[in-house]
Amino acid sequence: MTIEERFINFLHALGIHREQPNGAHAQVADHEHEHVHEVFQASTLNALLEGVYDGDLTYGTLREHGDFGLGTFNGLDGEMIALDGAFYQIRADGKVYAVTDDQQTPFAVVQWFAPETEHVLPAPLDFAGFQAHLQTLIPTTNFFYAIKVAGTFAAMKTRSVPKQQKPYPPLTEIAKHQPEFELTNVSGTLIGFRFPDYAAGFNMPGYHLHFITDDRTAGGHVLAFELTTGTLWLEHTTQFHLELPESGDFAGADLDKDQSAAIEQVEGDG
Ligand code: ZN
Repeated sequence: MTIEERFINFLHALGIHREQPNGAHAQVADHEHEHVHEVFQASTLNALLEGVYDGDLTYGTLREHGDFGLGTFNGLDGEMIALDGAFYQIRADGKVYAVTDDQQTPFAVVQWFAPETEHVLPAPLDFAGFQAHLQTLIPTTNFFYAIKVAGTFAAMKTRSVPKQQKPYPPLTEIAKHQPEFELTNVSGTLIGFRFPDYAAGFNMPGYHLHFITDDRTAGGHVLAFELTTGTLWLEHTTQFHLELPESGDFAGADLDKDQSAAIEQVEGDG
């Protein structure tokens, strides 16, 4: 029995039934992609914390590894969100731009999203309540989870990041001056991941979500929200592909220190 089959049995034992909403598996079949249920990540979160803001991976290449995910751009030029194969850049001006294939990323996480379960969320629900609720839906925190929520929000607080110039300041400095956006009564989609605590060092332990409005005019890295209605789709992932930058400052960065305090500082209430 494969891990996948064992996991589905596990879900069934808990009364959670695997569903295939919106023909998601048909979509994956269309891609004929062999790496379904594999997270693909460019560089590491600790590299970002060490000021490695330029990567050598293009979005043209990143698109070959998933249709769903989040990340940033070289020089930290805004937040990236990908859903249904469309990649968007939410810059520090709060506006949304289409991502071109030649843009590059110092950090991104994508996968071919093939949700296994669909859940109507209780409401109202804030970010903390959402995390607590999701915790009741997943049978183990030891796997990676891809998370999608389509919903309406009485409030949505996001942030972006202004493009940096060299010499690059540390991320903890930048975090003190990031533009924040407070949207009210918006409908849109949350995209993101839950990573286990043991992922510290290469990704963010816990929840990392980005948001974009249905009209694709606003969004960003999610700090807080008040959901009024919403549907959640989940996919567990047990394979992870990490691609490190071979050019730029990555090779010389000190990536072996404990960054948990810095992550706390950078993430704040998000
Ligand atoms: Zn983010």
